[in-house]
Amino acid sequence: MSIWSLGRQGDPSSRGDDELRMIPQWSMVLAIVLFFAMQYVFHVVMPHHKHELLPLRLMMSYAWGTLLASYALLLGYVSRDVKRRGMSPGLWMLMCVVLPGGIGAVVYFLLRQPVLSKCPNCATSIAATYHYCPQCQFQMAPVCGTCHRGVKITDVYCTQCGHDLAQDGSPARLRSYSD
Ligand SMILES: [Zn+2]
Ligand SMILES: [Zn+2]
Repeated sequence: MSIWSLGRQGDPSSRGDDELRMIPQWSMVLAIVLFFAMQYVFHVVMPHHKHELLPLRLMMSYAWGTLLASYALLLGYVSRDVKRRGMSPGLWMLMCVVLPGGIGAVVYFLLRQPVLSKCPNCATSIAATYHYCPQCQFQMAPVCGTCHRGVKITDVYCTQCGHDLAQDGSPARLRSYSD
């Protein structure tokens, strides 16, 4: 059994994952709380004896509130995103919280691994680089029939060993032309 017999069902990009559902509820609540906390700090806690500074204060409270709220949402996103990529949640959450000014988050987005997909046959988590499922040998990517290195579905010959890929009888190559 191979991925080609299931057609496009196994394609991870066609699952229509809603990125907004990646933001957990706790981080939305935290974002709202932080936003209103900043309004409170700027308008109640800070002394304001000069009334002509009100527009500035409004601007500052809004800017800081939005910034902290966005950061809370970002943390929430990272906390879920890190799991579907099979990375260490504790380490990356710590990085995002400890490194100042969102540098941790920037590093995270630069270094994050591709999203893990599921084997359509046995639901094992599969990294993007796997050619076969490690549990059930389900074929996850087009490979050469001789050396089993990855090939493009439009390749006619294997770029590594020169094997004629048409001999493998994979229907994937034909489908790419008819689409
Ligand atoms: Zn499998
Ligand atoms: Zn080959």
